[in-house]
Amino acid sequence: MAARGGCSSHGACVASVCSPPSALTPFQLLEIIRKEDVALRAILTTHHHWDHARGNEELVRLCPGLRVYGADERIGALTHKVTHGQELTFGAIRVRCLFTPCHTSGHMCYFMWEDGSLDAPALFSGDTLFVGGCGKFFEGTAEQMYTNLTQVLGALPKETKVFCGHECTVRNLKFALKVEPENEIVKKKLAWAKQRDDEDLPTVPSTLQEEFLYNPFLRVMEEPLQKFTGKTDPVEVLRTLRTEKDNFKKPKELPNPQAVLAFDWGLFSPFLEKK
Ligand SMILES: [Zn+2]
Repeated sequence: MAARGGCSSHGACVASVCSPPSALTPFQLLEIIRKEDVALRAILTTHHHWDHARGNEELVRLCPGLRVYGADERIGALTHKVTHGQELTFGAIRVRCLFTPCHTSGHMCYFMWEDGSLDAPALFSGDTLFVGGCGKFFEGTAEQMYTNLTQVLGALPKETKVFCGHECTVRNLKFALKVEPENEIVKKKLAWAKQRDDEDLPTVPSTLQEEFLYNPFLRVMEEPLQKFTGKTDPVEVLRTLRTEKDNFKKPKELPNPQAVLAFDWGLFSPFLEKK
């Protein structure tokens, strides 16, 4: 995603690659930048996972002098290491770095706004906060995620637009509905997200205000959440919720029809172990 910062072709623009890229992503991104007639000056990377940082080296190769910001040495082509609370300026865009370790130990979110603009600020939340969910605790604890969601991200202005790193809204909201079957807002948002999916339209961004109404990971103080998890301490509610979500049924994968045929015809039998 390339954000325009009051820029001309000589101005400064920020690009944040948020979605799982294909091998073509750096070229697709550069194509968007060319069409928008802006200059790519910097990349803000949320964390080192390949589906968020894999294009960095290629972009740096294609755009010499490109600055790559992030908080983790494992981020490909990193040139500028940032810390919590650090502020950056790109043209008219101002950015505050918000450190949210847990999904990875070096995860950074980026909060952006433009002084004097009527537009709501934007949060690039990577794999910490999703629409209707939160990231897995790969390198951190429930205590850390609780701090991230309540004190770091949850304290931002309620109108903040949430641009997360993945489109997993439908699946997240199916889980939210399991947790809170009576929550009408969850039902409504899920129906909307399914419709958007069917029409191949994005469900991102949401707003922080909305997230507090249907995202179970931001609702750990609410009574239905305590009932579902059987816990009262908000950190314990969050910990149990994450475990439940990790075990939530995976979408069924349809078998490859050719593989089914080959199996029927016995083509695999020489490779199958005899009982
Ligand atoms: Zn990740």
